[in-house]
Amino acid sequence: MKSYDFDFFVIGAGSGGVRASRVAADLGARVAIAEERDFGGTCVNLGCVPKKLFSYAAHYAEEWRDSRGFGWTHAEPAFDWPTLLANKNREIARLNAIYRDILASRGIRIFSERARLAGPHRIKVGVETISARHILLAVGGQPWKIPFPGNDLAITSDELFHLPELPDSMVVQGGGYIACEFASILHGLGVEVTLVHRGEALLRGFDADIREFVTATLGGKFRLALGRRIEQLEQLEKVGQRKLKARLDSGETIIAGEVLCATGRRPNTGDLGLEHTRVKTRANGAIEVNERFETAEAGIFAVGDAIDRVTLTPVALAEGQIVARNLFDGQTTKMDYDYIPSAVFCHPNIASVGQSEAEARAGGGECDIYLSRTRPMKHTLSGRDEPALLKLIVDRGSQRVIGLHMVGPDAGELVQGFTVAMNCGATKADFDRTIGIHPTLAEEFVTLKNPLE
Ligand code: NDP
Repeated sequence: MKSYDFDFFVIGAGSGGVRASRVAADLGARVAIAEERDFGGTCVNLGCVPKKLFSYAAHYAEEWRDSRGFGWTHAEPAFDWPTLLANKNREIARLNAIYRDILASRGIRIFSERARLAGPHRIKVGVETISARHILLAVGGQPWKIPFPGNDLAITSDELFHLPELPDSMVVQGGGYIACEFASILHGLGVEVTLVHRGEALLRGFDADIREFVTATLGGKFRLALGRRIEQLEQLEKVGQRKLKARLDSGETIIAGEVLCATGRRPNTGDLGLEHTRVKTRANGAIEVNERFETAEAGIFAVGDAIDRVTLTPVALAEGQIVARNLFDGQTTKMDYDYIPSAVFCHPNIASVGQSEAEARAGGGECDIYLSRTRPMKHTLSGRDEPALLKLIVDRGSQRVIGLHMVGPDAGELVQGFTVAMNCGATKADFDRTIGIHPTLAEEFVTLKNPLE
């Protein structure tokens, strides 16, 4: 049998790559991993983790105001961005070290530099050419800016995580996950935000009721310029803080300290040596794989944002784990993409699992819709005018709950548990016979009585 330097060579130490290497090493494989940047990938360094820390910071603004209704008095609080940045950076450095330890402690050889494919079983790392029986491409993605004159002046979420000064005002272009989350965060931290989005409702792909509700709720907090996009960006004379002038396609101009372009992400598959193999990519650079994550080149696999299926950390983790187990534990598992929950950490939070109403109706089957708009108990005293929305979609034939959507405090925490029930095939009757926890928002989901007409 042909011998290789390693059984498994992983390019990219983000969520998918680290999980796959760890599982492969635990199963006895000789593993190497290459990472040219920080360990933990987008999630740990420029995504989920720092974003959630920023989101916690931003929530305090509303909570301080809420506390007055509960009898607290205090001077107007002040926010210090450099403190948040420094504390966030310290936490990320701690996580980077943990990720590196996970790999090193299992004897995985770490290459802290860029790796490129040199052929079917060969990888070039620095001056070395290494051979491996199997190769996993877990190279992630990066923000993509829509093209317009001056777009080089706009920042992306990558830069926002390290912005030395927080501007007084900001324009956010986009209406997806990152735009909604960062617009909420920046608003909470005291920045005057204008969100510019080409559509009339935020968060395409989510249930229409959720989109309408969130668009109205966020529109009540900061300015939404809907049905528009930035056409041009220029830097004004530099007097003190940076000032940018954004011209929209409506002709309107907005002056702001920074412009954040949150218009999607693209797979990080350029300059990877793919041309030395038969690996194929789609127009946006996503690596084409089959249901076993095999590329068109035998022995080369790809997972996570690089394949652009469901670009969420837990999905990359699961995909990486499946590749490692199938290769080194003789399993033949396939990824189940049904009932993948997701949350948008805008304020208020959104979480969703299963089908939207439109998807359920497009599927041909009849469905019942249960909807509740309710005022969270906390806001009876806080005075905050921010209702929550809960929606269930039930397949009329099987009575299974096939969609569950929520906008409200800690929606992600709450929807995670319901996802387990839905994965087990829970029906509306199962929800109905479940005793609620009182008083919570979650109990609404088990007390929804009448479907919409
Ligand atoms: P999204 O795909 O969520 O949103 C991109 C936005 O950019 C959309 O509103 C889209 O508009 C708009 N857009 C795209 N092209 C253009 C264009 N040419 N002109 C004007 N607007 C345009 O991408 P994000 O960058 O927000 O996030 C990338 C992915 O990362 C997400 O899809 C998600 O999978 C993941 N993510 C997950 C998070 C979480 O789990 N909480 C948080 C952050 C990211 P339109 O809707 O009209 O297409």
